[in-house]
Amino acid sequence: MKNLKLILSGLIVLALLSGLFVNNFKKSREISSQEFLFDTLCTITVYSKNDADAIAKAFDRAAQIHRLADFYNDESEVSKINRAKANEDIFVSHDTMNMLALAQEIYEKSDGAFDISIAPVSRLWKFDIDNPVPPLDEDIKAVLPLVNSKALLLDPTNMAVRKGIDNVQIDPGGIAKGYAADEAAKTLQGMGVENALIDFGGNIVALGENPKTENKKWRIGLQTPFAPTGEYSEIAEVDKNRAVVTSGTYQRYFEYNGTKFHHIINPKTGYPAKQSYESVTVVADNAATADCLATAIFVLGKEKGRALAKSCNAQVYFLP
Ligand code: AMP
Ligand code: MG
Repeated sequence: MKNLKLILSGLIVLALLSGLFVNNFKKSREISSQEFLFDTLCTITVYSKNDADAIAKAFDRAAQIHRLADFYNDESEVSKINRAKANEDIFVSHDTMNMLALAQEIYEKSDGAFDISIAPVSRLWKFDIDNPVPPLDEDIKAVLPLVNSKALLLDPTNMAVRKGIDNVQIDPGGIAKGYAADEAAKTLQGMGVENALIDFGGNIVALGENPKTENKKWRIGLQTPFAPTGEYSEIAEVDKNRAVVTSGTYQRYFEYNGTKFHHIINPKTGYPAKQSYESVTVVADNAATADCLATAIFVLGKEKGRALAKSCNAQVYFLP
């Protein structure tokens, strides 16, 4: 009897110890992988089971969205829309329809500060080439009437898009990375991953809990504009399943005759939005919304931007 008790208590201690071991093993387990998509470095870090397979599937999903939204590839759905004539039916995938529908929603809510039909203007600014020159004012004025999301008609029942005016074109640069980060997160979840951090060039989804902090919240550094990457001005504490997206002048710009020209365009003027800050970070329920909001709020300014963030259950940070 005494022996049995001894064996039993020994077994209990062993079970407790092995439990601790497994727990610690789970805590320290972290797998990270990177790919270059959307013209930016995309990182997925997973803190739970099914890691490598799940990460590969999540990147496949992101690459699928990249192919649909690739502005520079003639085969993409975005290019098909951009080539189409007015009143032509362009049949699109659910992903493209989802992105366009969200873009329209934020266009309305931001009073046109976010406008996915910015393409005719953003193309003129040539942020994709080395050492561009600012476009001529007359060239901007000539295409500005084409920047008009009201001329993009969505027919979700038939999964079709129509343009009200010829030459209206879309530039998904302000939404696609965020949308892809959300879809990558959903893919990970579908594969049984509970905790992960998805970072697609500053479009971050904090999936589940952070196993490395006491309070389980995620701590996201807000990059100091124009400082070396990884130098942070502030740390945002983020709850589980929230997204953090930054739009900044320093992310894409060129200098000409001593003046900086950045890539966040005011759709009303066709010129880079002039503000007293260099970046806007938005924390929202998903990265696609945060992506649109960050761009929109950059254009809107602090006061209107804060009001827009509030109406979308989002927090906003401005950095000088
Ligand atoms: P983000 O990278 O999210 O800050 O968005 C900026 C990108 O979105 C630019 O590189 C353009 O491709 C596009 N863009 C610029 N200005 C706007 C705007 N006002 N509304 C929607 N998209 C924009
Ligand atoms: Mg954006």
